[in-house]
Amino acid sequence: MFELSKSQKGIQKAALEFVKGELDKDLSFKMEKEGKFPEEILRKAAELGFLWVHFDETYLGGGMGQVENCLITETFCRKDATMGKALSLAGYASECLLRFGNDGLKELYLPRLLEGEIFSAGCFSEPGIGLNFLSHKTVSIRKEGRWVINGVKNNVMNAMDAGFYIVLCRDGDQETSEDPFNMILVDAQSHGVSPRDSGRKIGNNMISTAQVAFNNVSVPETCLLGKPGKGLEQLRLFFIESHIASAAQAVGIAQGAFDRALDHVKQREQFGKKLARFQVTRNKLADMATRIEMSRLMTYTVAARFDKGDKKLAHIAAMAKMNACETATAVCDEAIQLLGGYGYMGESEVERFYRDAKATALFELPESYQKEIIASEIIGKIRAN
Ligand SMILES: Cc1cc2nc3c(=O)[nH]c(=O)nc-3n(C[C@H](O)[C@H](O)[C@H](O)COP(=O)(O)OP(=O)(O)OC[C@H]3O[C@@H](n4cnc5c(N)ncnc54)[C@H](O)[C@@H]3O)c2cc1C
Repeated sequence: MFELSKSQKGIQKAALEFVKGELDKDLSFKMEKEGKFPEEILRKAAELGFLWVHFDETYLGGGMGQVENCLITETFCRKDATMGKALSLAGYASECLLRFGNDGLKELYLPRLLEGEIFSAGCFSEPGIGLNFLSHKTVSIRKEGRWVINGVKNNVMNAMDAGFYIVLCRDGDQETSEDPFNMILVDAQSHGVSPRDSGRKIGNNMISTAQVAFNNVSVPETCLLGKPGKGLEQLRLFFIESHIASAAQAVGIAQGAFDRALDHVKQREQFGKKLARFQVTRNKLADMATRIEMSRLMTYTVAARFDKGDKKLAHIAAMAKMNACETATAVCDEAIQLLGGYGYMGESEVERFYRDAKATALFELPESYQKEIIASEIIGKIRAN
């Protein structure tokens, strides 16, 4: 059984009080419709130390770990899937800067990010190619002490509002190596960067998403994160951390939809009985609650292992994300069913939770990729006959 420490329980409680006071259903309904990001709430959350708790204190982070980050993310998404996701993804991919960037770059960007002044974005997938890295075309070439980048990235979250992008590029000089990729930080103000809004989506509607073109974008050599020819390896390490956070979002969304369904079936009467007295309803609630608890335990467990420095977590993090996302979409679907016609309406919130759950399942690595990571680890090398 996973046991939270006293201070972790305190953080969870404080996050709950924050969302009760700040995340409002009507405001969220309006902002989601208008596609607006909750900037004011982000700044308050950042000021009170609810965001980036797993970042170093040197850069205004909380100096804590992924378990604490998960507890806050889950609490935010439970209260409001759309706002919770917008807040927890405002610094998407900035862990790449934290883990692999040099001190100068960190000092320049992290404090501004952590104070809620700028957002960050991860430019990894490519149009028509997705995350099939070996076919990627975006290239970085070293020229007179600078990197020159050309290429296009797709479906990039926060792209319209980002202060900086983390870009995965082929290294023009290392085409033959096993990992011919670089991870480069590009300031959003750089000449030749042009994001083009992807328009309305099913969910994630408080977060901008865009295709980003890099046309002869020139950045200093020091913008390389980590080592040349290690971009893919670093991205895989980042995905471990980010899968844990995505799993926490999904657990929160599932729990939020469950809470609303539970409230409803305890109040709504049909055929002279509360819905919660029908065995079929009780069975559904039991299944939903069991799935949520399993997903939560898996998420906290992988987060705790990450915090202890366990590096061999790619397949476990993939399992946690995949399982939590499946739980979230299934629980939201069942919640809509339990709320009946009302569940289909915006007013009920669960239809929005469902749409946001779907986005969590699709982004980063889709299910088939996750399964491949898991299968590769458990099968290992196969001897030739
Ligand atoms: C809400 C959202 C936010 C996103 N944010 C970002 C972002 O911030 N940055 C970024 O870089 N990208 C982002 N993406 C892009 C995302 O990472 C890609 O959509 C994803 O990697 C899948 O790529 P694709 O869309 O090209 O689909 P494809 O790779 O074409 O996959 C389509 C389907 O085919 C399946 N499939 C693919 N290959 C195989 C195979 N070999 N075997 C079996 N099945 C296969 C997949 O599982 C999937 O179901 C985002 C996407 C969404 C939906």
